[in-house]
Amino acid sequence: MTDGSTVSVFGPVQSLEKTSKMPVFFLGHGSPMNAIEDNEYRRSWQALGAQFGGKWPKPHLILCVSAHWLTQGWQLTAMAQPWTIHDFGGFPQALFDQRYPAPGFPQAAQEISQCLRQPDSGKPVALDLQDWGLDHGAWSVLQPMFPQADIPVIQLSMDYGRPSAEHFALGQQLRGLRERGVLIVGSGNIVHNLRTMQLDAASNQAYDWALAFDQTVANDLQSGNLAALQNFQSLGAMATLAHPTHEHFLPLLYAAGAVDAGEEPQFFNTSFQAASISMRSVIWGG
Ligand code: ZN
Repeated sequence: MTDGSTVSVFGPVQSLEKTSKMPVFFLGHGSPMNAIEDNEYRRSWQALGAQFGGKWPKPHLILCVSAHWLTQGWQLTAMAQPWTIHDFGGFPQALFDQRYPAPGFPQAAQEISQCLRQPDSGKPVALDLQDWGLDHGAWSVLQPMFPQADIPVIQLSMDYGRPSAEHFALGQQLRGLRERGVLIVGSGNIVHNLRTMQLDAASNQAYDWALAFDQTVANDLQSGNLAALQNFQSLGAMATLAHPTHEHFLPLLYAAGAVDAGEEPQFFNTSFQAASISMRSVIWGG
């Protein structure tokens, strides 16, 4: 079922047929090695992907908002064949050898960009035809989920200089796409402090401030307190420790924005990597 408002927002999107409503994911991606290591995180992404074509329809398109693509103004990738970007250093060659050859979807990107308004300027979202591609925030989770790489992927960038409320507002504009077969995936981490990592920590070990911030965000998601979510920086020292820079938090605001009132979040991967990276992930509409 669709309601009038979502149909009208995405009326011009001819390239995407209507479907039942797709879920929305926020995935904690953590270490890039999760893409190729056989661990609980990778296995959870494999299990999630296996539910498409059964529980959920196979997506026409995946729209990913990754912590790793920051721009001035907002952009949408629109190339036919996006590059696999290895935007990290100090990892084994096997990780650099990974390629995720999912196609883009230039026509859908073009149509979607015309339907989205940049919250600060009111202009359509710009198209990126050659600069970006698929960064590891996108491909490290999508490769285990959809190993055949047969579902087109586009990425939406984030204007890091803009306030949280604008990121949330752009997420709200994505809602109607869920009834056009678009799987919206935010990829970041609810706690992300690389400076305090303890590489030998077990997944049930984390700093007190990390546990506290993670639980506060979980409570806000559970209670639908989306205003508090956008005001995460008002949590003071706990927020600054959880996010010395906050690009890994922002994708959560897009995912939460794309959720309709009354859709309950379900949490999984509620553990930590290296004591200061929360892997908590969220499914809505599941
Ligand atoms: Zn990351």
